[in-house]
Amino acid sequence: MSFDSILNDLMKISQTPKAQLAKYKAEGKKVIGVLPYYAQEELVYAAGMVPMGIWGSNTKTISRAREYCATFYCTIAQLALEMLLDGTMDQLDGIITPTICDTLRPMSQNFRVAMGDKLPVIFLAHPQNRFDANGLTFTVSQYAHIKAELEKISGQPITDEAVQNAIKVYNKSRAAAGSWRWPRNMPTPSPPSAAPLLALAKQFAAIDYDVLLYDPASAKNRRGEFVAQMVKDSGAQGLVLLMQQFCDPEEMEYPYLKKALDDAGIPHIKIGVDQQMRDFGQARTALQAFADVLALQ
Ligand code: SF4
Repeated sequence: MSFDSILNDLMKISQTPKAQLAKYKAEGKKVIGVLPYYAQEELVYAAGMVPMGIWGSNTKTISRAREYCATFYCTIAQLALEMLLDGTMDQLDGIITPTICDTLRPMSQNFRVAMGDKLPVIFLAHPQNRFDANGLTFTVSQYAHIKAELEKISGQPITDEAVQNAIKVYNKSRAAAGSWRWPRNMPTPSPPSAAPLLALAKQFAAIDYDVLLYDPASAKNRRGEFVAQMVKDSGAQGLVLLMQQFCDPEEMEYPYLKKALDDAGIPHIKIGVDQQMRDFGQARTALQAFADVLALQ
């Protein structure tokens, strides 16, 4: 199968989540919704269930979710809730709600209130300082909590062997995808170990250059320089930065990213996007102008 046809298949699936969910259920599988970011899908896989990523929708309008959300929440989070409220994800058996940004923290409670008794909502908190022994212990305790909740849903224990096997499967998948994924979601593969939850915690601790994760050396603008170096290494002439509207982490990072790009002599253009965008005329004009500038260099 060609790369394009795989991408087309994935695009169709991402545009029809209700049908994909119904397909899994018709196969007799239990399905757990996984919100961004860093919910260890390995645990869902190890429980014999299907992890289904939920990343909002580009075709829906925020309507029912307005009742639960402040208007300044990003559309990814609001539309994820919309999909639960409008019946799209009715067949889910549970959902994991990480809390890693200022939108997802309150949203995790909004999901719980909105779902009531209808759907188990599994809360996942990540430590800010994820590197030292305390951080690792906290992360392991969170994964143990998720594991226990998943066991309740699946009705059977998740063994260490099952988690070790899941780690191997996901390492293989990440290695295959690693060459074209954006660094935010490119965890370092964790080696299977006798303590698989600790292996997963160490994997999380090893993620670097991520706008959402604490960097003790952030004053050195390591991530900005890392992104600039990626652009250089790729041979690209410039960078198109798609900035998610109402995303505090991305918006607060921008001045530092801009400085690194300017220092490296990399031209860039910033285009605000969200999942309610329907008219791309302005973005098209801006991109054309940017392309014209690059063509003159
Ligand atoms: S787009 Fe930004 S605000 Fe929205 S969930 Fe992601 S990190 Fe949080």
